[in-house]
Amino acid sequence: MNEALRAMVEACDFEETVAVDPRQIHITQDVRDACAKNDCGHYGQNYMCPPAVGDLDHYREVVNSYTNGLLFSQVYRFKNRQDYRRMNEIMAGFEKTVEKLHRAIRKSDMEGTVFSAGCCTICKECGILTDDPCRFPDEAMPSLEASGIDVVQLTKDTGLVYNNGPKTMTIIGLILYNE
Ligand code: SF4
Repeated sequence: MNEALRAMVEACDFEETVAVDPRQIHITQDVRDACAKNDCGHYGQNYMCPPAVGDLDHYREVVNSYTNGLLFSQVYRFKNRQDYRRMNEIMAGFEKTVEKLHRAIRKSDMEGTVFSAGCCTICKECGILTDDPCRFPDEAMPSLEASGIDVVQLTKDTGLVYNNGPKTMTIIGLILYNE
């Protein structure tokens, strides 16, 4: 990893980072099917969620276009899983950090992209809900899951800790880049 990217990642103060060979990434229909169950309520409600986010072959091409990857996680502690306000704060905090990282990568001269977690929250209301085009197509990031990436398998293959114990939430993202 070059010094510029290392500095950008260090500024995020992630809990853990592990190197990923893009060839370790599996994109599967099963992950897409899990999204379609719509447990999160965002399916079809956001340009960065399926089905609008694009098909699996598109993401296979994206992954194949990079030589290096870095999986990262942030671990948050909470007292009560039913405390939805805290849970929303946790997701928002992670998204803001990753948006900042994505912006820094885009401004740099490196070739790279970032996958976040959850749906895109850049706008208060996603343009898809009002039939408007995406307002910030260069800033919007899909999640690993929305892209069909098997995150659980990827953590097993790379050694990143997926579950940090009771009353913790581990949120995971990915940088792909060329050196
Ligand atoms: S930038 Fe706005 S319009 Fe585009 S996907 Fe994100 S929330 Fe939706």
